[in-house]
Amino acid sequence: MENEMSFRKTQAITINQKDYRESSQILTFYTQDFGKIILLARGIKRPKHRSLSPADLFSYSEIIFLERLQSINLLTEITIKDNFLSLRSDLSKLTQIFYIIEFLNELTDFNEPNQPLFNLALETIRLISRASIPLAEIYIFSFEAQALKELGFMPNTFACGVCAKSFPQADHQARWVRPTKEVGNERIKFSFRDGYIICRSCDPTHQDELGSIEVSPGVMKLMSLLSRSDRVFSPNIDRLKISKTMRSELRNFINKYIIYITGNELNSPSGIVKCND
Ligand SMILES: [Zn+2]
Repeated sequence: MENEMSFRKTQAITINQKDYRESSQILTFYTQDFGKIILLARGIKRPKHRSLSPADLFSYSEIIFLERLQSINLLTEITIKDNFLSLRSDLSKLTQIFYIIEFLNELTDFNEPNQPLFNLALETIRLISRASIPLAEIYIFSFEAQALKELGFMPNTFACGVCAKSFPQADHQARWVRPTKEVGNERIKFSFRDGYIICRSCDPTHQDELGSIEVSPGVMKLMSLLSRSDRVFSPNIDRLKISKTMRSELRNFINKYIIYITGNELNSPSGIVKCND
């Protein structure tokens, strides 16, 4: 029996925890090498008075677990690397971090490693722990755009998916975005099902009423801009100015896209407009 089991070691972010029996917990981790995994942690439920344990949500740790064939894998060692203590007393930032772990919980499958996504999530949590609130909102947008790209859901924002006519206004080289004549305000259709935009002439022939949304070209431009990691996680991110209207439209677009993908609406970060139409 012994040789059917093996120990694994990886970096992990705790994304869910549930008490189990007297003194154990069932923990969900998003890991660097194995993607999302569930582990049984025996005897780690902490006394009520102790302030923190490594298993607390969104902690970053190194874990070792025992892979078992017939039952749930067992957490055998957890070494905390960062529990982001400064975040834990800041309610608005906490809400944003909870959104990130909910995103990982809802949009990823078990045992599907995605190292770039792990690095992105960890980096975003680190950045938000140090950022001002308006900047934290941009980090969240950027996390969403890049995570959707890593998961294979990045929309084609440059050309009509039917006739391939390109949209020069969706030029991703632009430094900042607002709904002005620069990008135009004429709304275009985006198909969640197909993951591309559809030009005016192809629109009437494209049958996808349930899975599409009208968007402004500016939102498509923002999605492509934000999905470029080299740009957004740079020291110049504070130069990215996004108008309130555009932020609200982008929030609405991403929320609806996620609902289309998962069938659920996530609890949006506080202070960010939820889609309600
Ligand atoms: Zn077209």
